[in-house]
Amino acid sequence: MSQRIKNALKNEVAQLKENGKSVGLAVVIVGDDPASRVYVNAKKKACEEIGIYSEEHALPGDTAEETLWDLIARLNGRADLDGILVQLPLPKQISEEAVINAIAPSKDVDAFHPVNVGKIMTGNFDFLPCTPAGVMALIAESGIEVEGKECVVVGRSNIVGKPMSMLLLHRHGTVTICHSRTRNLAEVTRRADILVVAAGRPEMITGDMIKDGAVVIDVGMNRLEDKKLAGDAHFESCARKAAAITPVPGGVGPMTIAMLMKNTVTSATLAYNAARGEV
Ligand code: NDP
Repeated sequence: MSQRIKNALKNEVAQLKENGKSVGLAVVIVGDDPASRVYVNAKKKACEEIGIYSEEHALPGDTAEETLWDLIARLNGRADLDGILVQLPLPKQISEEAVINAIAPSKDVDAFHPVNVGKIMTGNFDFLPCTPAGVMALIAESGIEVEGKECVVVGRSNIVGKPMSMLLLHRHGTVTICHSRTRNLAEVTRRADILVVAAGRPEMITGDMIKDGAVVIDVGMNRLEDKKLAGDAHFESCARKAAAITPVPGGVGPMTIAMLMKNTVTSATLAYNAARGEV
């Protein structure tokens, strides 16, 4: 699915280029977190595949917040860049909130800026946050109806759980959000027709916690001691009961990157239309 989306985007990028509009993404990474490095490399590779120009700004781990603000201000002003992505997490001396707020909402292809978050609440958005958007695309492309279904989201982070719940609500799901203080989690997850797990707890959802025929979307990416990647769902026991389940790796992760590419192309298209005086 992610490949299909990227192939379609490749055509859109080629079309924009024919019309004189190149598509550009700036990726900012601060420090040397190995997982962040893997994600940044994957994003740059996807840009290359699609024909998007990408440039990396790698800053040392002791970078001052003001230095990052200055960089973002420069990137905001560049007409050749349609998207700015600051890879999270940031080192402790830098406020993630302040940095996200510094990105121009029109270039905020992660959709973390409060303006974009507000637009997601009202349903009138330009960009959707990449991981929840990837989950929705997986659901839609699999022909799974959300309307009227019991949807349970485990996790309430600003980047996954909360926007995920909102997107399911926009699609007319009946949504329950669980978190670390939820009592009797299994009782809630067993009600789910569609269960999205984004807690960052390896294999916490086991087969006995889901109902027969449930759709299980596993957002979790947990590095185990043996260096293997594990999701938040125990794949074998859940797969025995689920109607559909996403694997880790190879499920939500590639869709997240495809959605980042989609947001960047959307931003470029909006900039192109604005330059031509079209809304
Ligand atoms: P956060 O740590 O920000 O949030 C985790 C959420 O899970 C919190 O709301 C927390 O509750 C809840 N939670 C933790 N433990 C439990 C528990 N035992 N029972 C119920 N709820 C629990 O993580 P993120 O949202 O950023 O990421 C979640 C997972 O998704 C991670 O594994 C991350 O690596 C992965 N991820 C994967 C992506 C992809 O592309 N595939 C992209 C982004 C994230 P509380 O609020 O009460 O603390």
